[in-house]
Formats: sequence, C-alpha cells, structure tokens
Amino acid sequence: NSKQPVTMIGLGPMGQAMVHAFLDEGHRVTVWNRTASRADALVERGAVRAGSVEEALASNELVIVSLTDYNAMYAVLEPAAHALSGRVLVNLSSDTPEMTRAGARWVAEHGGTQLAGGVTVPPSGIGRPGSSIFYSGPRACFETHRPTLEALTSTEFRGEDPGLAALFYQIGMVMFWTSMLSYWQAIALGEANGLTAADVLPHAIETMTSMPDFLSFYAERIDAGEHGGDVDRLAMGMASVEHVLHTNADAGVDTALPAAVVDLFRRGMDAGHAADSFSSLVKLLKKPAA
Ligand code: NDP
Repeated sequence: NSKQPVTMIGLGPMGQAMVHAFLDEGHRVTVWNRTASRADALVERGAVRAGSVEEALASNELVIVSLTDYNAMYAVLEPAAHALSGRVLVNLSSDTPEMTRAGARWVAEHGGTQLAGGVTVPPSGIGRPGSSIFYSGPRACFETHRPTLEALTSTEFRGEDPGLAALFYQIGMVMFWTSMLSYWQAIALGEANGLTAADVLPHAIETMTSMPDFLSFYAERIDAGEHGGDVDRLAMGMASVEHVLHTNADAGVDTALPAAVVDLFRRGMDAGHAADSFSSLVKLLKKPAA
C-alpha cells in the first residue's frame, strides 16, 4: 500500500465522514476520539484505534483534526503537545482567522507545522466530487500532502497566512447565514399572508439566481472606488427598505431583520450618501458604528 497513512483526531459527524473517505481510498487510518465508542464502527471497517492522543500523534506524520473549534483542540492536544514535534497538523475545525493564526504559532512552538482548513460542505459532501476545502499555511507543506488531502474533497490553497482559510470560510458564512435568514423572513411574510414555503420557493430561487450579476457588477465598481449614483441611489434604496419593513410590520411578523437593514441605510443617509449608490454602505461597514 503506497497510500500515505493518516491519523484522524475528532470523530464527530465530520471526522467520521473523513475517516470513511480515507478508508475508501485505501489509506491506513489511526483514529482517536474523546468518546472512544465513536470509533467502534470505523475500527470494524479497518481503522486503527489509538489508545491515547500521544499514540495517535506518534503513529503518523500527517494528523487531521476535526473538533468543534480550536479550544477543543487545545483541550485534546495540550497534554500531549510534546508529541507534535515533526507532525503536520491539518486542523479542519472551524474558528476565527485569529484563532487559526494563534493555533499555527502554538503548533510551531511545539515543533510541528499547521495547515488550517475551512470545510465548506456538510459531512455528506466529503469524498464526493464538486466539494472543496480551503487550506492555508506553508505552501510547500500543503503541496506535499495535497494528494492525500484530495481523498476528502478537492483542495483550494488560499495562501500562506494561516488565517486565510478561516477568513474565506467566514466570508462564505456571513453570506450564508444572512441569506438564509432573509429566506426565513420571506417565508414568514408569505405564511402570514396565506402562502406556503412551496408557494414562495420559485420566486425565492429567481431572486437568488439574479444575485451573481449584482455581485460581479458591484465588485468591479467597488474596487475602482466608484460609488456614484448613476445606477442606483441610496435614497431610492432607503424608500424601498422602508416598504419592506412596513410590509412585514403590517403582516404582524417579526421586524428585527428588516429594521436592521433600515438602520444601516439610515446611517448611510446620515453620513451624506443619499445621492450615491447603496454600495457606499461598504464604506460604512468597514468601521464599527460610532
Ligand atoms: P462536532 O461539534 O460534532 O465535533 C465534535 C468533535 O469534537 C467530537 O469528536 C467531540 O468529541 C470533540 N470535542 C468537542 N469538544 C471537545 C473537548 N473539549 N475535548 C475533547 N473533544 C472535544 O462537529 P462536527 O463533526 O460536525 O464538525 C467538526 C468541525 O467541522 C467543526 O469545527 C465544524 O464547524 C466543522 N464543519 C462542520 C460541518 C457540518 O456540517 N457538520 C460543515 C462544515 C464545517 P466527543 O465525541 O467526545 O464529544
């Protein structure tokens, strides 16, 4: 077997899916989890159970970590930190860019190398085509281990700053959570007016499908520093978001989300952007509220 052996620490739904993917590709996998029973089914499939974290780290150069967050990693690895020396720790736990940068320093202090990952798919996407994980850290180290990591998903190297994988992950998540919340708001508004989620769906899809054109159009103008009111004006948007707020209020549904949108537009108006594009709100968002 010429496939690189790996250690997997953390056997939540994500870690388990990853072990299956490595086993499917013929890798020898050593596993460790705080709750040992979560390894049982994997051991039946041929994974090797490590008796301790130390043993898990000692077994293989390449160690994949999938825990709740970086604090869980410290809880698990700190008692065995000396065993990190010479290891490549691929941390696929989600956290903030700052936490992943601190993690890289901590692993380096113990003689290891961290590659940080941002997993953009649910466990069902692991080992499937079309899914990807963002990576950041030392490029040469990433390239060495890329063929093995591709047993999980395709790989997207985001740069050497260890925080970049988490940054791109969080950029995706800020859009995901607010977009999905806007969808829940739309369904609540629809239901208050006698529509079902199924009734709302086609128009919701149409609305979301129109978004990529807006994203591209504004990206180019924003990078060029163009926020002119030639295409849209914040004052026009202000009237529109107030209609949205009132429509939701009239329907008797919660208005926290539309009110937050009105608040941001209002701050843009107060900052003097009435005649500019609503993209001028990016300038506002770059600073914390006074
Ligand atoms: P879980 O939160 O279910 O993972 C839990 C794992 O972390 C278990 O192995 C658990 O051990 C361990 N753990 C948590 N806290 C501690 C601790 N203090 N000490 C020791 N072990 C601890 O997450 P998932 O498996 O779902 O996901 C793992 C990572 O992948 C997360 O960072 C998540 O954000 C990310 N991710 C998950 C996605 C998903 O859809 N699931 C999608 C994209 C990213 P034990 O079994 O003993 O409780």
